[in-house]
Amino acid sequence: MGQPLATLWFDGRSPRGRPVRLRIDGDELVLEPLDEAADGPPRRYPMRRVRWPERRTHGQRQTELPDDSLIQHADAPEWDAWWAAHGLRESWVVGWQQSWRATAWAVIGAIAVLLASWFWGVPVASQFVAQRLPLALDERLGTDSLAQLDRGLLKPTRLDEARRQAIERRWRAFVDSAHPEGDAPTWRLAFRHAPDLGPNALALPGGQIIVTDELVELLHDRPDALTGVLAHELGHVRHRDGLDMLVRASLLSAIVGVVFGDASTFIATVPATLLTQSYSRDVERRADAYAAERLHRAGLSPAVMVTLFERLAAVRQKEGERGGVLPIALASHPADEDRIRYFREWTPER
Ligand SMILES: [Zn+2]
Repeated sequence: MGQPLATLWFDGRSPRGRPVRLRIDGDELVLEPLDEAADGPPRRYPMRRVRWPERRTHGQRQTELPDDSLIQHADAPEWDAWWAAHGLRESWVVGWQQSWRATAWAVIGAIAVLLASWFWGVPVASQFVAQRLPLALDERLGTDSLAQLDRGLLKPTRLDEARRQAIERRWRAFVDSAHPEGDAPTWRLAFRHAPDLGPNALALPGGQIIVTDELVELLHDRPDALTGVLAHELGHVRHRDGLDMLVRASLLSAIVGVVFGDASTFIATVPATLLTQSYSRDVERRADAYAAERLHRAGLSPAVMVTLFERLAAVRQKEGERGGVLPIALASHPADEDRIRYFREWTPER
């Protein structure tokens, strides 16, 4: 039967590891807490449902248990020796993958990624994939992302109802005159108080546009500049930039989503991506171009954006850099000279 192994178990809630002994009993892994009074009686897990560590890796061995708790063993050689002593070999490692399906998905997905990026490069490959994801997914991603942000960075708005309605009315009128053909993308404004983000705005997949109270205050006397910001964000919505960025960051899981019609793995990557990725300069320029052109079409001067950039720069000087908190948000990609000049000098012929 082999010797039990003394190791550490994490219950998934507390960051503290509990000393336990592991042994294998037939088809079950038995986990015996040394401190039964505190950690309860022995636990038994079916071997097949345990996610065993891969053997090839260096460093500690981490084993995930079906109840979301886990075992961490710092001494890899000791773990491997214990493992080998049971004559278990790799079959169980393959076992956690449960089925040929998981393996087939990974393999086909990887081949698709390789082929796609071989032929078109990663940006084109991700565009190709993004275009094949259903629009309903944008909606779902937007809702999930907003909920995620509401748990951390965003607080309920402190703007009163009348003020929000006035902004929304003005914005709706703008969209109607900027898109006389009625082909504007779907949008929804989400007002939030966000001390960590400061004056800021960002568009989520599906058309949700977050506007911070701080931005509304910053531009309280320049409603046209606020319209300009929203127009830039609507540009991101129109080009599906949010989705494209998420796909690019997790191309493999997105491809698996397209090929197999199951986007759950992809969706799981979204919160982390959202907090770390930013748009490329080209993507920002395209959203700027959209904003300038639509502002013009609606009878406003694209130069309203200059006020915005100046005020953001003043805030940054006074309160320090806030970028990096949410890299895709407006204030995280400050305007350089080029960008300011672009709006100041924009003319319809360009
Ligand atoms: Zn942007």
